[in-house]
Amino acid sequence: MSTDDPESGPTKTICPYCGVGCGIQVKQGEEPGDVQFMPWGDAPVNEGRVCIKGGAATEVVDHEDRLTEPLIKEDGEFREASWEEAYDLVVEELERIREEYRPDAMGFFGSSKTMNEENYLLQKIARRYGTNNVDNCTRMCHASTVWALRTSLGAGAMTNSMADLEEACDLFWIQGANPGEQHPIANSQYFRQAVLEGATVIQVDPHANKTTRSFQIDETDRHQHLQLNPGTDIPLLNIVLETILDHHEEHPADGWIDEEFVETRTEGFEDLKETLEGFDKEAAAEECGLDLEAIELAAEKYAKADNAAIFTGMGMSQHACGVDNVQNEINLALITGNIGRPGTGVNPLRGQNNVQGTCDVGAMPNVLPGYQLVDDDEARTRVEDVWGFEVPDEPGLTNVEVSHQFGTSVHGLYVMGENPVMSEPDANSVAERIQELEFMVVQDIFMTETAKYADVVLPATTWAERDGTVTNTDRRVQRMRGVDKVHENTKHDLEILSEVGSRLFGGEESRSSESRTESGEGFDFDDPEEVFEELREVCPIYHGMTYDNLGEEGLHWPCYQPGDEGDPFLYEHEFDTESGKGHIEGVTHQPPKETPDDEYPLILTTARLEEHYNTGTMSRRSPTLNRQTPENFVDVHPNDAERYGIEDGEKVGLKSRRGEITVEAQVTEDTKEGVVWTTPHFAAASANKLTNDVLDERAKIPEYKAAAAEIEVGLEP
Ligand code: SF4
Repeated sequence: MSTDDPESGPTKTICPYCGVGCGIQVKQGEEPGDVQFMPWGDAPVNEGRVCIKGGAATEVVDHEDRLTEPLIKEDGEFREASWEEAYDLVVEELERIREEYRPDAMGFFGSSKTMNEENYLLQKIARRYGTNNVDNCTRMCHASTVWALRTSLGAGAMTNSMADLEEACDLFWIQGANPGEQHPIANSQYFRQAVLEGATVIQVDPHANKTTRSFQIDETDRHQHLQLNPGTDIPLLNIVLETILDHHEEHPADGWIDEEFVETRTEGFEDLKETLEGFDKEAAAEECGLDLEAIELAAEKYAKADNAAIFTGMGMSQHACGVDNVQNEINLALITGNIGRPGTGVNPLRGQNNVQGTCDVGAMPNVLPGYQLVDDDEARTRVEDVWGFEVPDEPGLTNVEVSHQFGTSVHGLYVMGENPVMSEPDANSVAERIQELEFMVVQDIFMTETAKYADVVLPATTWAERDGTVTNTDRRVQRMRGVDKVHENTKHDLEILSEVGSRLFGGEESRSSESRTESGEGFDFDDPEEVFEELREVCPIYHGMTYDNLGEEGLHWPCYQPGDEGDPFLYEHEFDTESGKGHIEGVTHQPPKETPDDEYPLILTTARLEEHYNTGTMSRRSPTLNRQTPENFVDVHPNDAERYGIEDGEKVGLKSRRGEITVEAQVTEDTKEGVVWTTPHFAAASANKLTNDVLDERAKIPEYKAAAAEIEVGLEP
């Protein structure tokens, strides 16, 4: 599937790390594995600029830890196996589990680091197998955002695009997001440019970070950092909403509320007003740990802006009240009319390079490709008619729910490029539970913390060796192109899935006698373009795209017909809801499920670093990235450090009810008193050994952002 020709120069592809979707080039040397990064000067998103991760991305391609042969576990040890042997065992075990239990005894985990085509095929296999238990890591990052946006506006994605935000936005409301660190090129190329031209930044975050510093937020009166207590986003936004409502009542001519927009384009305004009746702003500000005046000032700035845009991140979504957190941002945008035109909207900054696409193509338990609900009979039948088999009509389990059922109702797991033993909360328990599975197959590029527990490990190619498409944070679908394979006996994820699907379903009868799946054909694809052509048939928002018209620029979805340019911003005339209106709904404060007490008197919150990436599978193996931050650490406020007697740089124990890690203490005012802050990237001392696996009821996202914790000092050096 490689398209690279050394004679024709470097290959244009997309950075494998964050959701900004920067274009980069890979230069193939004389030997396979001899690959070099090169900038792509006129790349559509980034015009040649990259951050430290993008520049170092090729370092993992020929890494000595690469998996190079299929592995089968025998007597607790892995041995090398042929692909034939590995495929036979995978198919045999999947068939056995379905026969002995039922299809829902299997879980399938897709990957936001793999392509649209690969995730499309994985979810199709899961559904042909007979289960909707298919999910991806969006469950860990933006499931609640997707839920709220899809339900209240229509699409679980950024309402606007980076380019229109740069051109038109004059106030960035950044809540629980850290683009300075997590989306560096979006921050430096788009948002910072707007700020240099006069835009204001309101940052709402319990932790000061590179976003704070990149906009010099503490040094000018124009910008504000509202450093709230973790888990108090709803009270803060309710103060903002109440301030705007109050002002509008006294000064309607100021137009802080867009009455016409509320009247013609929304529903639920009365519900919001009722929810806020008798709301005590003073008490709420105290809950947030902030001066009321500072929040009121921020509300005024948002309401007065011509075009205000909200950026929302995992600080909002990763809570047991994640859906309500995001709903309150939607409320703010809707009552002020800040949506449906350039420079406005509610914009989730997506983490991984294809987390948007992985959701778009249906690797989720409740939706088919294009966010068509599995329990919508009409939509499901349309997809079934193309696929030629029946799809279960009830949503399946999410990945954390699957993990909670290991060994009870779930007995087998198919993992493509995911690392739940590190990425899920309460990771020590996940590692124990995963051993209860009867069978697990993992396809990946390295022996991850999860793969160690697998029965079969299938060696996949890296991002640089493959073709396909990925969808970035502002809904731009772009092509990735691969150079030569480094290791002959590795396979592209798509090839593996195609083979497994064909073998698994090849002999089975399907619903229709003319069906393509009668002989497993529905899984037998020659290349990613062929898969994309089928995806277009079942995914209306991608229907207008082809490999040819994606070209080098890519296209934003929705793109319903060939020739559509794709929409850079959504909802100009109506929302994509049943009524066509944007849904407003008042919400009230729900504290984190675990709050400090005598035993665990601190609040633990977590976030990522610029130089590392999620479970660190790639970034910890990249010398350039690992050099920057080789170990985990914890930020401790100076007053807490004094109380505990902690010196800057001292090793401390950080513990919660679920585990303990040893980390270096960084004494800093970046964090608030009573709040400790650490990261999930490092296997030995990952934050997820401490985090709480309680879920948002609707979106089933875990509450990574708030847990009760304690520090232990005086460890042996
Ligand atoms: Fe890659 Fe994101 Fe950095 Fe761009 S900003 S180079 S996509 S990690």
